[in-house]
Amino acid sequence: MLAQNDDGKVHYREEGTFVKDDVKKLYYYHFKVLEGTQEIQFIFEYSPRVLKDPEKNRQLIKDALWEYVEEYSEDGKVKVEGLFKWKMERIFDTVYPIRNLLDISFYDTEDNYLGKLNQTFLGFGKVGWLNEKEASLGLTPSKIRPGTWTIEIAVASIVTDKCHYTMEVFLLEEESRPGNKVRKRKRTAVNSGVEKSKVRIEESRWYAGELHVHSNHSDGKNSIDEIIRGAKREGLDFLALTDHDVVSGYDFIPQDKNFPIIKGIEITTFYGHALGLGVKSLINWRRGGEVRGINSIVDEVHAQGALFSIAHPYCIGDPVCAGCRWKFKKTDYRLIDMIEVWCNSWRSRKIENYRSFKLWDKLLNEGLKVTGVSSRDWHDVNKALEYGPLPKTFVYTNSLSEDKLIESLKKGHVFVSSGPMVFFSAEYWNENYICGDEIKASARKVINFTVKVKNLQTFAQLEIIKNGFAFFKKDLPPADKLRVSFSDIPSFEKSDNKELEGSWYRCEIYTKEDKELLCFTNPVSIRVF
Ligand SMILES: [Zn+2]
Ligand SMILES: [Zn+2]
Repeated sequence: MLAQNDDGKVHYREEGTFVKDDVKKLYYYHFKVLEGTQEIQFIFEYSPRVLKDPEKNRQLIKDALWEYVEEYSEDGKVKVEGLFKWKMERIFDTVYPIRNLLDISFYDTEDNYLGKLNQTFLGFGKVGWLNEKEASLGLTPSKIRPGTWTIEIAVASIVTDKCHYTMEVFLLEEESRPGNKVRKRKRTAVNSGVEKSKVRIEESRWYAGELHVHSNHSDGKNSIDEIIRGAKREGLDFLALTDHDVVSGYDFIPQDKNFPIIKGIEITTFYGHALGLGVKSLINWRRGGEVRGINSIVDEVHAQGALFSIAHPYCIGDPVCAGCRWKFKKTDYRLIDMIEVWCNSWRSRKIENYRSFKLWDKLLNEGLKVTGVSSRDWHDVNKALEYGPLPKTFVYTNSLSEDKLIESLKKGHVFVSSGPMVFFSAEYWNENYICGDEIKASARKVINFTVKVKNLQTFAQLEIIKNGFAFFKKDLPPADKLRVSFSDIPSFEKSDNKELEGSWYRCEIYTKEDKELLCFTNPVSIRVF
């Protein structure tokens, strides 16, 4: 229980110190809310916030970087030599100084998780608040019931020897803010002069989107309106809002039927990050003071009708990016819907992206249905490109809506590109199939495949991957439109596991000169019966 001071208003204050042994632990602090309380206000601060010593930073980055590359096996596409140095300098520029990271969450008297405090509300003099109608970004407004409330500190990262924190909570008998200014306002269109359209786009085609975006409700730089403007500038048709462990942004999503926003969340655990796409409410990865089993979290995402997507699985991990690497050894991959296999620009993240592709191919070889997608992990839509073009995830659907997008993502009707468009299809017994589809083959008959490429601006190479191996390669010249065909007869070899019979084929297109990935498709799978 927090100590209660008597300075006129009800006021709790607590302070303490975290050390490196506290990393990946959860701490709970309880305080009593009195009858008549209308609002809870709080101030949190911890210091130091960062590790200043450049040499110590270098050492931490070096260790993390080693883990990042150590399992990476050379397959002729990238040379590890030189990359370490290149990555070291880039990462140092980006992450120095490495930070301590504490996350502060709230729970009401019923132990309902109310969200996590946005980093903006951390610091001396910065006051966060929570009442029935309004709350600091990141928190869900809720009735201030009398009883025992809980504050949780998740110690995500401590890189200094010690980290001192102070926590103050104030109980107010009336709401300090007018409230409702934003939340109850009927928001009909983006406040950017964009015309509100009367009809939803109902056209069967490929739509471009970004599935991993942070707003100022977690650690993103932009408001949701700014993000939408940035996304439209980039030619995107939709996006997913995936703030860290919070959904308070949903109330700020404008009703623009021509620019749907998939309601998502980034489940940001100590041992890996994952997106829930299409969720209805908060998903909490902590329970009883511990990190929940990953498969039960996946089940909860599915119970909400949403998709579970592993985010940046091989990203550099602790402490450079605390908790970012996927380390859930007990992951049941049969439950996983999607994997981010292409994170950010290919040039800057190719080591981890290759590894993610390898994991994906392994799962496809096990007969699993997992959709490969891209992710910018957008935190600032106005940031200039640093290391080459960013990918977009293209989804085929007959109607641009949140539900239809989710449906098509699940089916794998998806390709990813940072430039040219690639359309992969197959024909079997006069039926047409697109990437993501499964052909049920019952006879030894030729399957004809077609790859159509649009807007290829450089000399490139098309590679067809069959069951994880290069099956077919072809050089492509720059062209507005190209068409490549090939055919194959599905393997009818019997295996003990019926699920494993069959083949899958997917496309990759690289620049000829330096093997930068330009685009890839999801697989067409053949199941043999
Ligand atoms: Zn993440
Ligand atoms: Zn993220």
